[in-house]
Amino acid sequence: MTRFKTTLGISITVLALLATTAFTFLARAAQAPKKIRVLLVTGDDVSVHPWPVVSKAIKDMLAASGRFEVRVCEDPGVLESAASLARYDLVFLDFYNASTPTLTLSPAAKENLLNFVSGGKGFALCHLSSASFKEWPEFRQLCGRCWVMGTSGHGPRGVFKARIAQKDHPITQGLEDFEADDELYAKLQGDAPINVLVEADSDFSKKTEPLVFTLEYGKGRVFHETFGHDGKALENPTVQKLTQRGCEWAATGKVQ
Ligand SMILES: [Zn+2]
Repeated sequence: MTRFKTTLGISITVLALLATTAFTFLARAAQAPKKIRVLLVTGDDVSVHPWPVVSKAIKDMLAASGRFEVRVCEDPGVLESAASLARYDLVFLDFYNASTPTLTLSPAAKENLLNFVSGGKGFALCHLSSASFKEWPEFRQLCGRCWVMGTSGHGPRGVFKARIAQKDHPITQGLEDFEADDELYAKLQGDAPINVLVEADSDFSKKTEPLVFTLEYGKGRVFHETFGHDGKALENPTVQKLTQRGCEWAATGKVQ
């Protein structure tokens, strides 16, 4: 009898402990902010752009912040399904259709991406991605500024001073000017209103060029960074911070 009582006592204690643990776990899960779901579209670029390395670096830096859940897709055809797209908060484009220059998105894929962003979600892109889909004028509006072959350019890749152009934006708050090791993109084309966050003086254009900027698109937001020539360019801690915060801002409208 005593043994039975002891066993019963232990069982009740164990059950109570389990219940408390489960409750604590559920309470914490409810408090933790929901992860931002990112669809990272990649899979092609010019030969000097190692897209598998760059897309992995982007995925890793987003995951490292603890704020994102990233799925990588190596086929822009993924945009064909509005239902698939609806599962995400942000589409990140690290892609230029170099080996398939005539590739374009289907009308449905184009409409889905525009509806996704204008409906209130986020779009982010880096480096040469803005040169994609040349035949699609609205894509230029979505990117704010675009690389145009034969017009846009850059000096030799190297170290240059990048300036924080706006210090009171949630994406740049507390960040200092920094030395980037990348190509300084110049003469991007476009006239959509953009909010420049990072800029640099270009030897190529002899002008101050916007390197990181945001824009509104319908109810949604776009984060555009020209960094990302290769893995080394993305090792810079300020570039990583800008990318993490920029993606969060584009997806949610704020940075926690
Ligand atoms: Zn490049």
